[in-house]
Amino acid sequence: MTFRRDLIALLTAEPRSVSSLARDLGLKRGDVEDALRHAIRSARAAGHRVEILPARCRACGFTFDEHKLTKPGKCPACRGTRVYEPQILIRSK
Ligand SMILES: [Zn+2]
Repeated sequence: MTFRRDLIALLTAEPRSVSSLARDLGLKRGDVEDALRHAIRSARAAGHRVEILPARCRACGFTFDEHKLTKPGKCPACRGTRVYEPQILIRSK
């Protein structure tokens, strides 16, 4: 599937968020998220290092679980809605 290769190529160039990938690829965020989970798994299986910079609350600095790839709606600690989106980077070996 070439689309998944494109995704991996984008992620090795610089850290990207799901919404910026969706914009560049012209896809829905949900579709990108699904493809991304597969891409991360196959990249790891191929021996690449995948770095996930987890989502973080701008107000209080609360850091979300790195398994969450999309932007959370709200911070559970302070209820703030301004949250940095997670960024994903693949370091090819
Ligand atoms: Zn917060």
